[in-house]
Amino acid sequence: MNTKRSRTNVELENLLRQLGLALEASGIGIWQHNIAKNQTRWDEQLKAIYGVPKAPLDVIWLDSVHPDDLAPTNAVFLRAIETKSDYASEFRIIRPDGVVRYLRSRARYFVDASGDPCFVGAEWDVTDDVLLNKELERSREEARLAADHDHLTGLLNRRSFDFALAEFARKESAKVTLFHIDVDHFKEINDRFGHAVGDFVLCHVSKILLNAISAGGVAARLGGDEFAILIPEDEGARIDAVLDHIQESLGNPIPVGDQTLIVRCSIGVASAASADFAKLLSHSDLALYHAKRNGRNRAAVFSDEMASALANERQLAQDLRSGLALGQIRPFYQVQVDARSLRINGVEALARWHHPTRGILAPSHFLSLAASNGLVAELDDVILKAVLSDMESSAALAGIRVSVNLSADRLDDPEWITRLGSFDIPPGRLSFELIETIFLDSLSDQVRENIQTIKSFGIDIEIDDLGSGHASLLGLLELRPDRVKIDRQLVMPILQSVPSRRLVSSLVDIARALDMEVIAEGVETLDHAQVLAGLGVHTLQGYAFGRPQSFADLTARLEQEEASELRRADAGCASQ
Ligand code: C2E
Ligand code: CA
Ligand code: CA
Repeated sequence: MNTKRSRTNVELENLLRQLGLALEASGIGIWQHNIAKNQTRWDEQLKAIYGVPKAPLDVIWLDSVHPDDLAPTNAVFLRAIETKSDYASEFRIIRPDGVVRYLRSRARYFVDASGDPCFVGAEWDVTDDVLLNKELERSREEARLAADHDHLTGLLNRRSFDFALAEFARKESAKVTLFHIDVDHFKEINDRFGHAVGDFVLCHVSKILLNAISAGGVAARLGGDEFAILIPEDEGARIDAVLDHIQESLGNPIPVGDQTLIVRCSIGVASAASADFAKLLSHSDLALYHAKRNGRNRAAVFSDEMASALANERQLAQDLRSGLALGQIRPFYQVQVDARSLRINGVEALARWHHPTRGILAPSHFLSLAASNGLVAELDDVILKAVLSDMESSAALAGIRVSVNLSADRLDDPEWITRLGSFDIPPGRLSFELIETIFLDSLSDQVRENIQTIKSFGIDIEIDDLGSGHASLLGLLELRPDRVKIDRQLVMPILQSVPSRRLVSSLVDIARALDMEVIAEGVETLDHAQVLAGLGVHTLQGYAFGRPQSFADLTARLEQEEASELRRADAGCASQ
């Protein structure tokens, strides 16, 4: 019996030793709490965990718990006592050396041999796990933010903006207003001041947009210089307030080095109820297009009229495209006369659209449409080709110069100049009229080179609308055009206005000094013609000598003039 018992004791001791070793290795501390006597016992390991060599029993535990965790930790413990159930908790302690550790605690309720309710529990340090989890959580949050936000401005990116839009769409009977914002001339800002300033401008705009929205709103950078803000509700007053705020804030110049820069934006606004959310983006986009086309630096709110106007315009653009292909765009010709003899010495080709239902349309009806649809190059080509073919087919045109208008972009287009070379152009008979503003500041190398090529083809260069923009004398000096054409805005008032006459006279002087001829356009009366001739203008063009006319009418007129010229010459001979 004794041997049996001592064997059992030995086994038990072994077992306890093994358990002790296992606990030591695992870093788990053990505690026991007698609820009835309110007595707590800790093993050595637990004391080590708490950093207390000799635990003053019973009181030490809650004193060590982190003040922020104290109330909840105690509450969990008291509830386990009350419900006589297992206890599980996690809390921070502050050790006497000031180190904070995270502990996890598990305990089981039991009744001991003397009938007292007790807990026996295990506690271990989980600080490393907790910190690792926190770190993981933080990097997950960072990754989420990076995926949802634009890295430069911190606004939402396109993806999460679409998500926000979809969220609004899911809400029943929600109404929302979308502001689609585009920075005006951002490319120029980037090119002129550099990318750092470009980035700064984007951040500047982002801040303004963030300030413009209230708590329920969303601001996003959709890409490049394109932004959007989304605001629930669409009361008209609110839209105005948001727009006012944006425009006002944009009005403040921002310093860039020793200069200041005013950033401007075009804004398209559209509102929709949740049922119509699909239209929101396309509507605000259309309103933005509208704002840009009307000169930028403005806002436009979508309307049905806007949509139908655009539909019309699209149709018209389509018609223009096919009109160009079908030969509906042809040149009319307006004669130019020698200021002294009043004999025709040239014609200007002016594009006309022979529209199947709307009659003959002047460029004011389709030039900007062509420009916004990238059709000007084609238009210029069509007119030039028609002019060349008219020149070839008419002997009457042989003795006079033909001027063709050329858009600025052509001069910047190396492909165009190659195409020009492939045309059969008789030297010395053709002139290109270039809008004055092309030569504003400085000519690009491409433009300079193309102008030389044009001259080498025997084509004259003329500056159109001189005096309507900011003519640069330096530009004129460098370009050395064959002729300048004084704008009709300057010509019209010369009868009444002495300063206008002086201005025209000075332009003539400058042209003379630079060895250029001068044409006056918009000459509506013979009185104008007389004054202009007196001021030294060489050539006159205007309603006084004829409106633009078809090639057939022009040919008839030229032939008639030739005939009467001959008659005059004959009469002259006869009278001699
Ligand atoms: P522009 O080159 O200044 O052409 C002169 C315009 O003044 C013409 O208008 C002409 O009809 C008009 N005009 C002529 N005499 C008088 C006058 O005595 N009084 C008044 N008030 N106006 C007069 P149009 O034909 O409507 O052309 C308008 C503009 O369209 C042209 O202005 C030119 O810049 C542009 N354009 C015309 N044809 C072409 C073309 O083939 N290609 C390009 N790119 N532009 C063209
Ligand atoms: Ca012209
Ligand atoms: Ca002109």
